[in-house]
Amino acid sequence: MTPQRRAIVAEVMRTQGHISPTALARKVQADMPGVNASTIYRTLAMLEEVGVLAHAHLESGAEYHRAEDAGHVHLMCSNCGAEDDLSLREARALQNLIEEHRGFAPDLTHFAISGLCANCQRAVARH
Ligand SMILES: [Zn+2]
Ligand SMILES: [Zn+2]
Ligand SMILES: [Zn+2]
Repeated sequence: MTPQRRAIVAEVMRTQGHISPTALARKVQADMPGVNASTIYRTLAMLEEVGVLAHAHLESGAEYHRAEDAGHVHLMCSNCGAEDDLSLREARALQNLIEEHRGFAPDLTHFAISGLCANCQRAVARH
C-alpha cells in the first residue's frame, strides 16, 4: 500500500460517523498536498470492495462509514440538515411492513429518509 493510500485509510478510520469524499479529500490534502481526488475515490471504492467501508446516500450526497457501523437507518432533516439514526431494531416494524408487500426485502440503511426534524416542525408551526 502506498503512503497516500495509508493516509486515506487512516483518516477514514479516525472519523466518527460519516465522511464525504470531498471532506476526506480536504483532510488528506492538508497533510499530503500531492494526493489527488481520483486517488481518494479509487481508494474508497477499493476499501468498500474488501468490506471495510460502506456508503450511504444522505441529503448531501454519498458518504462513507466503517462497514461495522453501517447497520442503521439515516434520518436527515431537509430543512436544517440535522442527522439522526434509527437502529435496525427500531425500524423492524417498517421492515416487516415492506416485506409483506410482495416479499420485497428493503435495505433501509442505503438511502436516508428525509423529512423535518422536531425543531424545524416547531418552527414551521409558529409561522
Ligand atoms: Zn449506493
Ligand atoms: Zn450512517
Ligand atoms: Zn431541522
